[in-house]
Amino acid sequence: MTANILVVEDEPAIQELLAFNIAQCGYRAIAAYDADNAWTYINHALPDLILLDWMLPGSSGVELARRLRADQRTRNIPIIMLTARTDERDKILGLESGADDYITKPFSPRELMARIRAVLRRRAPQMSDETVTAGELELSPAMHRVNANGTMIDLGPTEFRLLHFFMTHPERVYSRSQLLDQVWGDHVFVEERTVDVHIRRLRQALEPSNLDGLIQTVRGSGYRFSCN
Ligand code: CA
Repeated sequence: MTANILVVEDEPAIQELLAFNIAQCGYRAIAAYDADNAWTYINHALPDLILLDWMLPGSSGVELARRLRADQRTRNIPIIMLTARTDERDKILGLESGADDYITKPFSPRELMARIRAVLRRRAPQMSDETVTAGELELSPAMHRVNANGTMIDLGPTEFRLLHFFMTHPERVYSRSQLLDQVWGDHVFVEERTVDVHIRRLRQALEPSNLDGLIQTVRGSGYRFSCN
């Protein structure tokens, strides 16, 4: 699953440099040149991570980070702040405004990419290519394969992403709307009952291996992946 990275940066040369490096890492870069531009994009689709420049024309990066953290829908999007400021107080202010990490310009693209990977792994483990195991299930994102009890099973792309998300977030209950945000990337344009359709397909695929019980329905709340 390709992570969409929203780059909020007003300097075209840095935008270009970042877009190039992001694409090299196999992620997709979306450019926004100010905070308003960024909001327009976010209202349309939730990015998986935001690279946010501190100094922007109009509303600052810190203001945008606060706004993102205050909104239920955007609260959990990982943010890495870019800044020319080296002052320790600025760093603290950046992190307090809700950034997950902070990097000072001029930065090494290699270091920034390493930090992007680390933040994605921490905040969105379903974006990682590492093989995940849970009980009798083994899922390999790189090979797009699922081994259930020793048998390879076929899953559609959405069921695959859904199972990947569940396996990296076990034992927690997720509402349909949370699953849409996490697995579909957005809740705006998809109906909640779509989730039920894909859950049903996922269970059907797991049933021959006797593993359909891993996906539990929690009445009135949503779904949970549990090996217990
Ligand atoms: Ca700037």
